[in-house]
Formats: sequence, structure tokens, C-alpha cells
Amino acid sequence: MTETILLNNGVRMPSAGFGVFQSAPEETAIAVETALKAGYRLVDTAAGYGNEREVGDGLRRSGVDRNDVFLETKVWVSDYGFDETLHAFDKSASKFGVSQIDLLILHQPMPQHFDRTIGAYRALERLLADGKVCAIGVSNFMPHHLAALREHTEIVPAVNQVELHPYFTQPAVQRANAELGVVTQAWSPIGGITFYPGWGENRVSVLEDATIGGIAAVHSKTAAQVMLRWHLQQGRSVIPKSTNPDRIVQNFDVFEFELDEDELTAIDALDRGVRGGPDPDLVDPMTFDVEIAES
Ligand code: NAP
Repeated sequence: MTETILLNNGVRMPSAGFGVFQSAPEETAIAVETALKAGYRLVDTAAGYGNEREVGDGLRRSGVDRNDVFLETKVWVSDYGFDETLHAFDKSASKFGVSQIDLLILHQPMPQHFDRTIGAYRALERLLADGKVCAIGVSNFMPHHLAALREHTEIVPAVNQVELHPYFTQPAVQRANAELGVVTQAWSPIGGITFYPGWGENRVSVLEDATIGGIAAVHSKTAAQVMLRWHLQQGRSVIPKSTNPDRIVQNFDVFEFELDEDELTAIDALDRGVRGGPDPDLVDPMTFDVEIAES
């Protein structure tokens, strides 16, 4: 049975999902097929990842019923603005080969162009009202971005997907989300951003952390499994990425052990308060030069 989290609009979302950032299009369909066959029922992608079509292919190849899979994707900033975001839904849905998307979220707050962010979110509200999406949300929104969004829009986001792993736990974001009834979904849940190849010399991989390694040894689990368990026990959704079949299976085998309070607290204490990804207030995502192709 799939463990789920109840969203603030009554929709149930699987707590553990599968991420495909940096999964090359030619690897994505097989990875998604493998994940769905291993039991995952949520797939998280983004228009900006360039692999929505292959996510749809993987879904069909898996043989799992479309209605049993929770498809999540993100609108890229070049498609912000009311009409542009309505069209972004059409592009994503058509690339997936589906008529309805389970969760559509804004990829970045884009504080430099917040009027377009508001327009984009109003389009999500319209898509929700029209039944084209089952839930709407945001990503990389800090508490002040959420507050600004709330001033100009009606519907509280169901999910805020943010960087969150033991070295960067964002307690203020988690608190602000909880106060509004927004589910926190962890990207880089096993700390991928702390060890992706080519992302900077001085990164310290959370996978190598001694405290996490010690807890993993006690439970005969891997460091990745311990981190995923830590998120799930604290009520967060997780979307680990892998294109390796063994690791895909391993990352979903996280429901049959339990961390105790001391272990959870020891992992909480590893927070260094330093983000690995771009600061949403400092980096203008329009400078990333990503355009989303028509379907
Ligand atoms: P992650 O899931 O924490 O880590 C992925 C990395 O860990 C990959 O290099 C993967 O390599 C490796 N890996 C996977 N399972 C492993 C295991 N059991 N043991 C050791 N290594 C393992 O990082 P992420 O990809 O950054 O985050 C997950 C998802 O979050 C993304 O795929 C994407 O869907 C989403 N995301 C969203 C944003 C955003 O701005 N909203 C940003 C980044 C990510 P292999 O593939 O070789 O296994």
C-alpha cells in the first residue's frame, strides 16, 4: 500500500516519490519504468528538465494505471504570466500524454519579476478550478515569498518543494509552511546537491557523514535510506533521484524501519545552514537561458 500525505485541498499525495532532475532523456523512461515497477507512485519532473515526454513514456511502459500515479511537474520562469502559464500546462500535459496533471508547481519565486510570478500562480488557480490539475504549489519559496503570494492570490499552495537535507534543513521555511498548511517536499533529500559531480570543489557530501553512517550501521541500512526515513518520520515528502536500478529500489525500501527520537535529533543537529543551490533572492532565474519547447 502507498503511504500518503493529505494535502490541504483533500487530495492524497504519495509521501515518497521519484525525481528525474539531470536524468538524461534517454535514461529517463527506463528509470521511471523501473521506479514504478518498484512501487513508487509519484514522479517529480519539471518543464525545465527537458524529460517530460520520457516520463510519460516510462509511465506507459511500466504498465501501471495512469490513475494510480501522481504526476508532478513545474512551470519554468520563462512561462510565467497568466496566459503563458495556462499554455505551459498544455505543453507539459501534451508531452506527458495525459489530460490532467496531479500537482503543478511554480519552479521559482522569481522575486525580480514578482508580478509575473503572481500571474503564473493565478493561472494555476484557474487550472485547478477547471479540473486540469488536482493540486497546485510552489518551489523554492522562502517565507517572505509565501507571504507576498498570499497577499495577491486566493488558494494556499498545497506543497512547497525546497532544498532540504541534513546539512540544510531550513527550519524557518518548514515552520512557515506548517503554519499555512503547506506540505514541505524535500528536493535533494539525500543531499544530491552536496555531491553532484562538477558542482564545485569544496562540497562535503552528506552521504559520507559519520553520524548518519553510524545510525545506518545500527539499522543495517544505507545513509540514503536513513535520510529518507528521517524526512518521512518528520512529515516531509521526498523525491530522491537515481538512474541506477539498485539505488532506485533501495530508495523506496524505507518503510520497514523506524528511527528513534535521539536519532532524529542527532540528524537535525547536522544542519549547517548553508544552501547548496542558488539563493532564490539573489539569482535571477531568467538568466539561466532555458526556454520550454512546444510539445
Ligand atoms: P538527490 O535525490 O538527493 O540525490 C541524487 C544523487 O544521488 C544522484 O547523483 C544519484 O546518482 C545519487 N543517488 C541516488 N540514490 C543513491 C543512493 N541510494 N546511494 C548513493 N547515491 C545515490 O538529489 P536531487 O536529484 O537534487 O533531488 C531529487 C529530486 O528533487 C530531483 O530529481 C528533482 O526531481 C527535484 N529537484 C528540484 C529542484 C527544485 O529547484 N525544485 C532542484 C533540484 C532537484 P545515481 O542516479 O547514479 O544513483
